[in-house]
Amino acid sequence: MAQYVLALDQGTTSSRAILFDRDQNIIAMEHREFPQLYPQEGWVEHDPMEIYSSQYSVMLELLVKNDISPGSIAAIGIANQRETTVVWDRKTGRPVYNAIVWQCRRTSGIVDDLEKKQNLGSHIKKTTGLVPDAYFSGTKIKWILDHIEGARERATKGELLFGTVDTWLIWKLTDGAVHATDYTNASRTMIFDIHKLDWDDKLLEAMGIPRQMLPAVYPSGHVYGTATIQGAAVPIAAAAGDQQAALFGQCCFNKGEAKNTYGTGCFLLMNTGEAPCESRNGLLTTIAAALDSPGAGSAIQYALEGSVFVAGAVIQWLRDEMRFFTESSDSEYHANKVKDTGGVYMVPAFTGLGAPYWDMYARGCIVGITRGTKRNHIIRAAQESIAYQSMDLVRAMEKDTGTKISQLKVDGGASSNKFLMQFQADIIGGIMRRPVIRETTALGAAYLAGITVGFWRGLDEVRDKWQCDMTFTPSMDETRRTELIALWHKAVGRSRDWAC
Ligand code: ADP
Repeated sequence: MAQYVLALDQGTTSSRAILFDRDQNIIAMEHREFPQLYPQEGWVEHDPMEIYSSQYSVMLELLVKNDISPGSIAAIGIANQRETTVVWDRKTGRPVYNAIVWQCRRTSGIVDDLEKKQNLGSHIKKTTGLVPDAYFSGTKIKWILDHIEGARERATKGELLFGTVDTWLIWKLTDGAVHATDYTNASRTMIFDIHKLDWDDKLLEAMGIPRQMLPAVYPSGHVYGTATIQGAAVPIAAAAGDQQAALFGQCCFNKGEAKNTYGTGCFLLMNTGEAPCESRNGLLTTIAAALDSPGAGSAIQYALEGSVFVAGAVIQWLRDEMRFFTESSDSEYHANKVKDTGGVYMVPAFTGLGAPYWDMYARGCIVGITRGTKRNHIIRAAQESIAYQSMDLVRAMEKDTGTKISQLKVDGGASSNKFLMQFQADIIGGIMRRPVIRETTALGAAYLAGITVGFWRGLDEVRDKWQCDMTFTPSMDETRRTELIALWHKAVGRSRDWAC
């Protein structure tokens, strides 16, 4: 009898395999980093074979080390780094080029061309829900077809296949039997119509991408195929982009529920229900993970997404460049050593500012320094900046949806910082709930797969078993909050329009 669900969490820097039991306990976990390739300034690639082999080997290692029989696994769920693009030969299974990673900026010129020469900016926004950008897969596919000899012709003949990382893993795990993706991953390609739920012919034509190379698209919870592991057939029953998987893993199943992940950057996602919400504040409209099993919930739900470019990264900067402390976790100790920032504000706009400002010329600044300013004030201001930036996203989302966010589920490395979480609750004026299982991406993939094969009965059962570790309740008075926020916005003003 199946006792476990296996989540494969294929991230940007490492591949992880995590085994959950019926009570959502982590029974075993393995992870392996793999090389990041930087062939030119601004270019980022992965070897698709490394992606697969690191993922496959951690899966086998987990089973073998813990003496788990593949027959005891009810299903596999995949969560993956989004937007990263692989093109491979249908017959040989060999990639024609390295995977072009989401961070890679090489296709900025193609995006400019689509916007300025082909006037497709508003079509892209309306159809795909995205702000035109080189992050997304479409222009990366075009680059490969343009630069690999004979690639477009072969793709037109149906000899080449495109996939995001979920598609690549499913194809490899099923021995080339299944070429498919899910709605969440498709919604990050900039060639997928999130309303009609189909690839968009106008964008395919504009980028010269033949339909024949595109995968079939299904809900995230779906039996995609079967992986044969040590002779046992195990269903692959879920695929979802990492942020949408985390939204699901935080049990944000209903309209208005939101989560924020505090990692290198922050990713805030809110479930907006069955109707897509078009943002007027520079947020992205995207598809949320959902199930296709009857009665288990609607197959299509949408989400609004906003990101903070520099969050935990500002702590890394204080640690590695300013040498203010040796471990990121020490930042909390320093913040608690002072009663406030002494009027100091830090705006870590190292690479410009994202939503709701969208100012690529903004640069980082520290303002309000006096002769009395100490290192701890700056360390505290850096942590507060993470909370202020997230608060700006929350307010933008509230404006777009007309829904007040009174509660946020939180996860990610920096969510272990209690000072930061309390300040976040104070500055938003809402409750922060941090789960026991902080591996929410993997947990989301496990939920989707487990419910799809009937390992868990449905959304209610997994929600009932989801456990909260800590709740942070706002305790700051309204006058002080308003005062602090006004000064934050003044500081943001100082950082803007700086670089030329
Ligand atoms: P990612 O998945 O983006 O690599 P993680 O979720 O692993 O990120 O979180 C790592 C980030 O969180 C780093 O930028 C680190 O500086 C920051 N971080 C980790 N622990 C803390 C802490 N206790 N306080 C503040 N920041 C932290």
